[in-house]
Amino acid sequence: MHESPIRWSTALQWLQTHAFRRPESWEARFGKEQSHQRLLQQESNDRYRAVVETAVDAIIIADKSGIVRAFNPAAEIIFGYTAHEVIGQNVRMLMPEPDRSQHDSYLRTYRETKERKIIGIGREVTGRRKDGSTLSLDLSIAEWRDIDGRQCFTGIMRDVTARNQQAAELQQAIATAQTARLDAEAANRAKTEFLATMSHEIRTPLMSISGFTDLLARKGRLSVEQRRYVSLIRTANESLATIVNDILDFSKVEAGQLELQNRPFSLQTMIHDTVAIVQPIAARKALRLKWTVDRGIPEWVEGDDARLRQILHNLLNNAMKFTELGAVTVSATPMLGRDGRDLIQFAVSDTGIGIPPEHRERLFKKFSQADGSISRRFGGTGLGLAISKRLVELMGGSVGVDSEVGKGTTIWFTVPLAAAAAPDAKPKATAAVEEANLCRGKILLVDDIETNREIVMAFLEDAGCDVVQAGSGAEALRLIEETAFDLVLMDIQMPNMDGVTATRLIRQMKAPVRDIPVLAMTGNVLPRQIQSFINAGMNDHIGKPIERKKLYSKLWCWLPRKLAAEPAALASSPMFNRTRLDELIDSLGPRKVEHTLRMFQKQLGDCFQSDIAQARSEAHDLINAAGVLGFELLLDYALALKDTPDGVSVSDALMADCRDTRDAVLEIIETTVLPHLAAPGLRKAG
Ligand code: ADP
Repeated sequence: MHESPIRWSTALQWLQTHAFRRPESWEARFGKEQSHQRLLQQESNDRYRAVVETAVDAIIIADKSGIVRAFNPAAEIIFGYTAHEVIGQNVRMLMPEPDRSQHDSYLRTYRETKERKIIGIGREVTGRRKDGSTLSLDLSIAEWRDIDGRQCFTGIMRDVTARNQQAAELQQAIATAQTARLDAEAANRAKTEFLATMSHEIRTPLMSISGFTDLLARKGRLSVEQRRYVSLIRTANESLATIVNDILDFSKVEAGQLELQNRPFSLQTMIHDTVAIVQPIAARKALRLKWTVDRGIPEWVEGDDARLRQILHNLLNNAMKFTELGAVTVSATPMLGRDGRDLIQFAVSDTGIGIPPEHRERLFKKFSQADGSISRRFGGTGLGLAISKRLVELMGGSVGVDSEVGKGTTIWFTVPLAAAAAPDAKPKATAAVEEANLCRGKILLVDDIETNREIVMAFLEDAGCDVVQAGSGAEALRLIEETAFDLVLMDIQMPNMDGVTATRLIRQMKAPVRDIPVLAMTGNVLPRQIQSFINAGMNDHIGKPIERKKLYSKLWCWLPRKLAAEPAALASSPMFNRTRLDELIDSLGPRKVEHTLRMFQKQLGDCFQSDIAQARSEAHDLINAAGVLGFELLLDYALALKDTPDGVSVSDALMADCRDTRDAVLEIIETTVLPHLAAPGLRKAG
């Protein structure tokens, strides 16, 4: 049986059609008291209607059988039905299956048992629109009785389809982001591993090339032509090492593996040394090379001097490369950053070819060169500026470029460098002094690759060390138990037992064996790996390819002092052949030799100060005396320099080696050879 609509809607309808427009007639019609009651009733209805009609949520009233008695405008919008189409129909028309079929039995159960599923609780349900589509609804239902005591239900519904969709999309985005993060982490790990492996694989053969070239140059009896070839191999190897280091550096920065050092250093010295490296290029190209440091900059600052040098060197090299005429200038000036920090701005300006505006954008991107012809004309990988930018940013600074085609370029960068106290002065321990003073330390050399052992062995024997070789970690352990060594040079990657494990086992042995200094020799130079060597008990690390000078300075640090510092009493070394000097003393007598030495000292002191043409002629003049006096390394370098044909660029490293050797020889003359000549026994002989 169809029940009559509930009273409030009838009243509302009635009031709407009859009473609202003519309130003045109420008193006449209903009497004063009743009229007041009706006015209150109307006000309540008005309020109710205003709420229901303007609510953004759907409001539906149904009776106990589920027949819809009221359906507000928001419900019309949400479900797509007009109130007219729904009022008088069962509310289940607004539900999809299976709720639709089960709704009657749900209501019945509720009436009989009062068991609630939604009423008074609220939950999310699925609704059905007129067009058959479904929607998600937050539904709450209140139960009440009208004035006739009939059971009614008011349902308030909010369309949460969009909200749910957004939540699902957000969930999806989070899941995607998480997967991407995990992928990126895995890729980063793979990249780091790859880097470590490549670093090892590339540095090992590089070490063979540079090591054997070095030995060939110093030991082989080479013709002028052969010397030239050796010098060319050296230069090519240095370029290759630079490229490899650039690529490894770049990958390290990208993988977040590059750690900056923070130590006090003299800014003036850093700039001076960096400029000095490119001085020969400037001299060869007849470019003026100037540098200025503003007076306002403190002498000592704190930062990573090696990386700053690398950046400046990159910029200076480019400036030299792209300038044929004029000047290259380096400047350092103090600046105040936007955030109030003290900054130092470094700028390298040149009067070279300039950079077209369209190329400036990608200047600091990796593998980018101004145009394709650049690499053919000037060489380079297009990595220098990209690395420089990354390094500057890592230091918390920024880079920029000003340039005019045909006029020149200024590339600048700013970095925060705090003033630092001057460190305690340490005695100057040049490679030369170290080399001259090294003597018979007993060293265990552990490496599974024979060529590597051969190179390092030659370096060590040259320095007067007594060397025993081991091809594996296990062999090293056995030898250590049998023989007392002063130091172990330990390769890291070896089959069966690696260097880290071997060191750990050494540290578990009895004293004094367990306290022996162990230095890692490896191409694996990621900070994380170096840390793992230290954790395993290694004392220090020397990177491959192993360079003679670096090796000697490590020996100087780690060999027991009595061995390293024992005066060589004019012992032969790679730097100096005593037999030659003795022969000379025999034929000329010590006083003449002393006189010759003093002249030589003066001549050598003035060498290798300026441009390359000058250095070549100085090298030529040195050859005779260096050979006769027994300064063989100096002789080698002088020959290499003299023999470099015109048009072949002399590498920076060769010039630097010449200067270092000059200083070393001067030191040996002063501290060892002259005192030896002054010794009473020799004086008598003279
Ligand atoms: P590359 O090793 O090839 O020199 P860089 O990243 O150092 O790599 O430089 C990228 C390119 O930027 C160079 O090839 C050159 O085209 C341009 N460039 C850099 N510095 C200068 C400069 N001072 N003058 C003109 N062009 C420059």
